[in-house]
Amino acid sequence: MNNRFDVIVIGAGLMGLSSAYYLSKKGLRVLVAEQGAGILNGSGGATDGYIMHNTKMPGYHNQIGCMGSDMYPQLLADLDDNCDYESGCGGYLICEDEGIFNAMCPIVEKQRAGGIDIRMIDGYELRQLEPELSPHLRGATYTPSGSKIDPIKFGCAM
Ligand SMILES: Cc1cc2nc3c(=O)[nH]c(=O)nc-3n(C[C@H](O)[C@H](O)[C@H](O)COP(=O)(O)OP(=O)(O)OC[C@H]3O[C@@H](n4cnc5c(N)ncnc54)[C@H](O)[C@@H]3O)c2cc1C
Repeated sequence: MNNRFDVIVIGAGLMGLSSAYYLSKKGLRVLVAEQGAGILNGSGGATDGYIMHNTKMPGYHNQIGCMGSDMYPQLLADLDDNCDYESGCGGYLICEDEGIFNAMCPIVEKQRAGGIDIRMIDGYELRQLEPELSPHLRGATYTPSGSKIDPIKFGCAM
C-alpha cells in the first residue's frame, strides 16, 4: 500500500474535516490525524450548529462568515446529505440589560453598513417572536437569515 500523502491535516474538527474535504476534491491525497477516539472530539462536537452573523465582528469576520454561510447549500448538495440544515430560521444574540443593548447598537450599525441582514429589536418585539422568553430581557440583535445544521451529521458527512 502506498502511504504517501500530499497533506496531513491535524485535528478532525469541523475545520480539519472541511479542509480535508476540499483538498481531496482538488485531487490531493489527504490524511486527517486526530488525537482523540474519533471525529469531532473538540468544540465541533459541542457546537449548537447555528450559522449566524450576529456573533461576528463587523468587517473581515462578518465578510468571511457570510462567505462561509453561502457555501452550505452547494456543499450539502455535493455531500448528498441535508444534515438537518435549516435555512433562514433566524437567530438572536440576547441583550439582557440596557448596558449590553447599548453596547451592541453601534456594532450592529456597522454590520448593517457592511450589508449584513441584522437589526436591533427591543424586548417587546423579541417576545412577539419568542413568547416564552423572560419579560426582563431588554432586547436582542436579530438576524432573520440565520441558519442551523446538525454539526455531528455534518462532520460525519464530510
Ligand atoms: C458549546 C459550544 C457551542 C458552540 N456553538 C456554535 C454555534 O452555534 N455556531 C458556531 O458557528 N460556532 C459555535 N461554536 C464554536 C465552534 O464549535 C468552533 O468554532 C468550531 O467547532 C471550531 O472547529 P475546529 O475544527 O477549529 O476545532 P475543534 O472542533 O475543537 O477540533 C479540533 C480537533 O483537533 C484535535 N486535536 C487538537 N490537537 C491535536 C493534535 N496535536 N493532534 C491531533 N489532533 C489534535 C482535537 O482533538 C479536535 O478533535 C460553539 C462552541 C462551543 C464550545
